[in-house]
Amino acid sequence: MTEETIFSKILKREIPCDEVYSDEHCIAFRDIQPQAPVHILVIPRKTIASLKEVETSDKNLLGHLMIVSAKIAKEQELENWRTVINTGEEAGQTVFHLHIHIIGGRKLLWPPG
Ligand code: 5GP
Repeated sequence: MTEETIFSKILKREIPCDEVYSDEHCIAFRDIQPQAPVHILVIPRKTIASLKEVETSDKNLLGHLMIVSAKIAKEQELENWRTVINTGEEAGQTVFHLHIHIIGGRKLLWPPG
C-alpha cells in the first residue's frame, strides 16, 4: 500500500497550499516554513518516496522537474538560487514524497549544515 503523506494530501486538494505552478506532471507551492525569502517545493504528481525509489523510466519526469524548477526560479526573479533534494532522514528528509526545494532571495552559505 502506498503511504499517505502531507504532499499526497496537497495533491488531492485535501490540504490547501500556496500554489505557484501546476501542470500534468507536477505542482509547485510555497514551503510552509520558508528558510529564505523564496522557498518553493516542486513535487511530481506521481508518488515517489524519494530519489532512492526513482527508476530509469522516471528519466523524463526528473528532467521535467528540474526544468520547471529553473522556470519557477526565474519567474520569481531569482538571480541565484539553490535546488535541494533531501534523501533519507539523516539528510533532512521529513516528507517522503519526492520534492525539489527552490531556495533563494538571500545569500546562501556553503557547505550546508
Ligand atoms: P524535507 O525536509 O522533506 O526535505 O522538506 C519538507 C518540506 O516540506 C519542509 O521544508 C517543510 O517545511 C515543508 N512542509 C511540511 N508540511 C507542509 C505543508 O503542509 N505545507 C507546505 N506548503 N509545506 C510543508
